[in-house]
Amino acid sequence: MEEDDKECLKEAGEILKAGGLVAFPTETVYGLGGDALNPDSSRKIYAAKGRPSDNPLIVHICRFEDIYRIVADTEESRKMLANARKLSDAFWPGPLTMILPKSEEVPLETTGGLNTVAIRFPSHKTAQALIAYGGGYVAAPSANTSGRPSPSLARHVQEDLNGKIDMIIDGGEVEIGIESTIVDLTVEPPQILRPGYVTQEMLSRVLGTVDTDVTILSDKSGQAPKAPGMKYRHYAPKGQLTIVAGTKEKVAAYINEETDRLQAQGVKTGVIATEETKNLYHADVVKCAGSRTDELSVAKHLYGILRDFDEEGTEKMFSESFDYAGIGQAVMNRLLKAAGHHVDRKSTRLNSSHVSES
Ligand code: AMP
Ligand code: MG
Repeated sequence: MEEDDKECLKEAGEILKAGGLVAFPTETVYGLGGDALNPDSSRKIYAAKGRPSDNPLIVHICRFEDIYRIVADTEESRKMLANARKLSDAFWPGPLTMILPKSEEVPLETTGGLNTVAIRFPSHKTAQALIAYGGGYVAAPSANTSGRPSPSLARHVQEDLNGKIDMIIDGGEVEIGIESTIVDLTVEPPQILRPGYVTQEMLSRVLGTVDTDVTILSDKSGQAPKAPGMKYRHYAPKGQLTIVAGTKEKVAAYINEETDRLQAQGVKTGVIATEETKNLYHADVVKCAGSRTDELSVAKHLYGILRDFDEEGTEKMFSESFDYAGIGQAVMNRLLKAAGHHVDRKSTRLNSSHVSES
């Protein structure tokens, strides 16, 4: 790390220790950091984001051992900690958040009133250095205004939080683009509360059976999501987004029919396409998310595209649907939320029992 960068990160660490807020890059999305053990810092985070105070924050650490100070030391938590160790060996540092029973050290302001705490050890070197300089425990939700897409660039943070926080560290474009996988280790079997880069299959290889919260891909389960934040309408662009599922040809034909009709009425239209299909569309704004052969590219660009639509003032947008394999499940989870679960299915060939049609 360059000397200048080190000095800047030291200064940022001092801001955190003094109770201030610093936005910083991680491998998933930009985070808005505050001292996780200081209830005033957590309150400031909620205020800056306009985040409901029952939506708990993830505590970021920079060494596995630091987990012991913030996790309850009880008979019950020992087995959970053994699972945490196994997952840490496999996936930390990285895009995985674990839920464990909290110790007295973690203020309820940080956990949204819960007796559990969400913990992550990110792999991004800037994030690790900031956490170390900032005292070792950094509460950091995504650095966006509540309800807007999470930031994958420092510019997105600036759009939402400029003037409301003490510092923004620009680390360029993030690597993954969607938030961490959250796994709850306080239940047996452990349960995924939010899908991300680390998939159910990857977790199962380490822990055996791992469940997924049923609310993740359907809004029709009649149940409340277990991660409080997942119940809010997130990632919403200002216009109406519809996901169109089906074969490539049928999807393109249908979207063109719709956008032609809307454009004739003077409505500004947008499409989320892929490298393979971007030349097929007539819409006013056609955005290429990435290649279907590289799902990570789609994850990385998704939120930026939703923000671009807002900037361009598109009123009706359509997105192709993506496979649920690998990180595709996380991509579809975010897209379905952005679309308010508004899906048009144009082919009986698509086997996707997860999507709710409207
Ligand atoms: P963000 O950091 O903005 O990506 O949001 C953090 C997510 O983690 C939200 O959906 C929270 O509801 C969830 N979360 C944080 N702490 C807990 C916890 N103790 N139990 C369940 N979910 C949590
Ligand atoms: Mg968020």
